[in-house]
Amino acid sequence: MLETDGIQHYILNIQMEEINMANIETIAIHAGERNEKRQHRSVVTPIEQTAAYYFENTQQIKDFYEGRLDGIKYGRYGCPTQHAAERKISDLEKTERALIFSSGMAAVTTTILALAEKGQHILFTGDCYRNTGRFFTDFLPKLGIESTEVPIGNLENLESYLRDESVLFFSELPTNPFLRVIDLEKIIAITKERGLICIIDSTFATPINIRPVEYGADIVLHSATKYLGGHHDLFAGVVAGNSVILDRVQQYRDVLGGIIDPHTSYLLLRSLQTLPIRMKVHNENAQAIAEWLENRKEVERVWYPGLKSHPDYGLAKKYLNGFGGVITFTLRVNETKTSRFVDSLRLPYISTNFGGPQSLIEQHAVLTFYKDRTNAERRGITGNLLRYSVGFENINDVLNDFEDAFRVLK
Ligand code: PLP
Repeated sequence: MLETDGIQHYILNIQMEEINMANIETIAIHAGERNEKRQHRSVVTPIEQTAAYYFENTQQIKDFYEGRLDGIKYGRYGCPTQHAAERKISDLEKTERALIFSSGMAAVTTTILALAEKGQHILFTGDCYRNTGRFFTDFLPKLGIESTEVPIGNLENLESYLRDESVLFFSELPTNPFLRVIDLEKIIAITKERGLICIIDSTFATPINIRPVEYGADIVLHSATKYLGGHHDLFAGVVAGNSVILDRVQQYRDVLGGIIDPHTSYLLLRSLQTLPIRMKVHNENAQAIAEWLENRKEVERVWYPGLKSHPDYGLAKKYLNGFGGVITFTLRVNETKTSRFVDSLRLPYISTNFGGPQSLIEQHAVLTFYKDRTNAERRGITGNLLRYSVGFENINDVLNDFEDAFRVLK
């Protein structure tokens, strides 16, 4: 048995050396998986559906604690399938380490709690996911951590918002829902000079469209519920960065417990293999649909970073390899008629996620901000604003569906 074990390991190592992992598509398929020795030589990484792990004797416990034996003590600290997905993500993001969480919000909250403490101050850009904003403004003050929202249009004055107690800068890239693109290099020059940790929530871009750590960001974060999971069927969050910071974050994850289970880890691992080809289609389809929408008389305005009319088109061209699968647009009608338009569309589900094969539409002020309309207004989210998550349906079918729904507005 031992001998066979050794031979298998040798063969797998040889294969590994021959693989050229220079390109993102190959990394997505093989990173975190190909060089692993598997008991039954399965091509696919197995799911080890267990919460508990055993030791064969007391000596093994001692060896484990003293670093002579690898392994897992208890499932809240991680599981093998999750570790494979974490290694794949860190290779995709080109970071030293990655951690996976039970949701994007678990990733956000755990990371901030690990990196900021009482008396300290955080800066974050407006136009971010509603609950991320709520965490900064409504939850952190209870722990004695203050935050300031920096309007995206005023980022060139970031330094004027800094305080002596500022420790962290947080921004989405692109942002939600206006898909704004911050000038990452300029921001990072300031955060580095002032010793701030820079966290980029890159959920809308994925490592296919940008890898913020390559520009000097300390942490890249994702709601993996979106493109990384990619099928509207799982919850997960991701944090990637250097080992020193991630070790701190992991201590908090171990205690706060926002861990992913083995089966969901497997679904995420499998989805990551197809991330490059899925993002290619999301990017291409959304670009074509955004250009079409922009030429419709019924449409007031389209926000898509791949359009010349987007306020950050120049920055988007500079930083992004593709512009993502979400299109935000307003209609030249009021809220009630906008609802009628949404209800007339047959193809997209009326739903608030994004990043899967099925297209989704949401009237943002109604679906996400129904009980928070003042906040929506403050953020410029009007009743006629729609967010469309472009899926993999044939573009002609999507456009015909729009065409039919536009007729209802007449
Ligand atoms: N970050 C962004 C940009 C999001 O859009 C979301 C959710 O929509 C989150 C974080 C939170 O992620 P989750 O819903 O997986 O908790």
